[in-house]
Amino acid sequence: MTEIRQQLAELPLERQVALLSGASFWSTEAIPELGLTAVTLTDGPHGVRRQPDGADHLGIADSVPSTCFPTASCLASSWDPELLDEVGAALGREARSGDVAVLLGPGLNIKRHPGGGRNFEYFSEDPLLSGRLAAGMIRGIQSTGVAACPKHFVANNLESYRMVSDSVIDERTLRELYLRGFEIAVSEGRPRTIMTSYNLVNGEYVADSERLLQRVLRDQWGFDGLVVTDWGGIGERVAGVRAGVDLEMPGSGGAHDAAVVDAVTDGDLDPDQVLDRAVAVARLLTDAPTDPAPPVDEVEHHRLARRAAIAGTVLLTNDGTLPLDASAERALDVAIIGRFAAQPRYQGAGSSQVVPTRLDDARRHLEERLTGRVRYASGYDDIPAATELAGDADVAVVFVGLPDIDEAEGYDRTSLALPPEHDDLVTAVCAANPNTVVVLANGAPVLMPWADRPAAVVEAYLGGQASGSAITSVLVGDAEPGGRLAESFPASMVFPSEQNFAGSTRQVQYREGLYVGYRFHDAAEVAARFPFGHGMSYTNFEWSDARVDGDGTDRNVHVTITNTGDRAGSDVVQIYVRDIESTVYRPDRELRGFAKVHLAAGASTHVEITLDERSFAYFDVDEDRWRVESGDFDVIVARSSVDVHETIRIEVAGETISIPPTGARGPGRPRYVSTATEFEQMLGHGIPRPVPVLPFTIDTVIAELDATRLGRLAQRGFLKIADRQTAKMLGDDPDPVLRKLSERMIREAPLRFLVSMSGGTGSVRAFDGLTKLLSALRVTGRRS
Ligand code: BGC
Repeated sequence: MTEIRQQLAELPLERQVALLSGASFWSTEAIPELGLTAVTLTDGPHGVRRQPDGADHLGIADSVPSTCFPTASCLASSWDPELLDEVGAALGREARSGDVAVLLGPGLNIKRHPGGGRNFEYFSEDPLLSGRLAAGMIRGIQSTGVAACPKHFVANNLESYRMVSDSVIDERTLRELYLRGFEIAVSEGRPRTIMTSYNLVNGEYVADSERLLQRVLRDQWGFDGLVVTDWGGIGERVAGVRAGVDLEMPGSGGAHDAAVVDAVTDGDLDPDQVLDRAVAVARLLTDAPTDPAPPVDEVEHHRLARRAAIAGTVLLTNDGTLPLDASAERALDVAIIGRFAAQPRYQGAGSSQVVPTRLDDARRHLEERLTGRVRYASGYDDIPAATELAGDADVAVVFVGLPDIDEAEGYDRTSLALPPEHDDLVTAVCAANPNTVVVLANGAPVLMPWADRPAAVVEAYLGGQASGSAITSVLVGDAEPGGRLAESFPASMVFPSEQNFAGSTRQVQYREGLYVGYRFHDAAEVAARFPFGHGMSYTNFEWSDARVDGDGTDRNVHVTITNTGDRAGSDVVQIYVRDIESTVYRPDRELRGFAKVHLAAGASTHVEITLDERSFAYFDVDEDRWRVESGDFDVIVARSSVDVHETIRIEVAGETISIPPTGARGPGRPRYVSTATEFEQMLGHGIPRPVPVLPFTIDTVIAELDATRLGRLAQRGFLKIADRQTAKMLGDDPDPVLRKLSERMIREAPLRFLVSMSGGTGSVRAFDGLTKLLSALRVTGRRS
């Protein structure tokens, strides 16, 4: 027995149990018996949101200013794990300076649907790219001594009713798509903590799931750190301890301790498991850095934020209008149009929202950098004035995107369209001036019915506090847009997850299986508006000498890249693998490797990308393991999922798959949108029946309480209290985004969440009793 374990074992059971929940909203318990002080955990993925006074998980109360780096969708477009390592290290340094021991990020849930409210906080629709980028960021954060906390494990792919939503997924898809990114992040990044998601997977809360937390995460992947719940996201507490949740956050004032102690006393819970969890908590405290915090250079971090934003900016189209000529001789007359140029949208709302240390706006930076006449019109609400300005300029640069209220934690987008006035503005300005450049600020894909009209379209994403200067550098060619899309931009709403997205309160059926993002577009031959991996450069690259060597599944892909243009630039080599003939269904191609190269004008480099067993494998559900089927595979050397440089056929000796399994595991290709019967075949069991609204339980959400008369009264009461509290926090003139977010959160919160967040004033037993009472006198005509 280790010394820590020995010492903890000597503590009374009640004390051991108390360590398994936080002491406050942001901190763990201290363990003075072992001489250990408490540690602080803080959001989040693109900036440190440390709240010395107020505490909330929605970004309401003030936080100490910190560098706001680009959000994950922008960072991901860099396709550069080393850059994420650098950003992670900067985040770690800022965390250290605020005495934060655990930084709650990165977020790497798969973007199953482009309308996911929190997609801006996630990397990609592809697990390899998500996992490698997350690993980079984890390494960076942890290089400073701060623990990273990848989240939200797992299958939290929408925001609506996220605390009670059951993600129903067939095992193969779960393994190959939704777990895979976390697997890579864990094995390559070695995070010291990981955060469970709020939702259920196949009928079980992730935070209760022994299978996911013990068998998959710890036994199969070798995770040896601490598992923390999302804030207020515990399922059934005893099950959670048994399953492998080490730390409940925030502190619930001991609301669940008695249940855990009783379970041990009654012999329902092994005391060793409590000890295991306490050891994980103690290790987090012992491993927290104690050496002096490294200095933080705010100016340097701002520069890094700018570099990262540039690297994540994607040039979607360009007829040669970009870069703009900023030379004195040319003295371009430029019309800057759109309020986002002056008031940038640079991050999303919710727990990741930070107060920036400074904020660059594109208007000012463009005015400074350009040499001719530069005029500005705010645009959206005065389109005629904007078009007039555009009409007599050499070039019009139109800044459009999504408004704040569209991209937030806690709810999903209801449409992929831009606000109509933004679309109208683009169309009108393009009609007035053919040299129109569109700059987009949004954290996730938007529809662009006008995509062919502008001379150039630049996807700047939510680029953090330096986005204004970053986009200026890109527009005038001081820097080149280094980004390639880490997600498909659909041309319309024709993609399968749309059929089963934020519909029913409690269940989301992942009927599309593996057909998410490019795995759908490429197999179904439904062209995306802009495909996964797409992005242009200001220079030209020639690819040559592509070949594959190696044996079996250990292969190396080689290609030579030459910058044949007259300026420096970067390119991304993407390797996709296709199984030519397979017993089980496979997507048409899957990303299995990539490399980012930076090349000076005229320079050339040899790129080598390693493939391994997993590059060819699928997950065999019946055998519960990854398998490679013998046969021919295509190794596709490409610039995007559809822009192929060369396809190289190789033969791989693997296993003979002799017994064709059934359903999704099996030969029949599931259709992109399967019927209920096909979905059941994929699952290998029936579709779980959604939990009925009545009788109420501790998992009932406030919005459902109106199913009975007493419930309705209670609902009104809860909403009134919540309203009062929100008004107190948000003041007389509430920010509409925070208001919407708070309202949605309270309506969609289960009673269980109220217990957790009550800081000890609520108890599970009391709420259980209440639900029985409220279940009486059902209101007729309502779903139950
Ligand atoms: C979010 C987490 C966040 C936590 C603490 C939750 O609502 O889902 O991502 O880390 O709050 O703010």
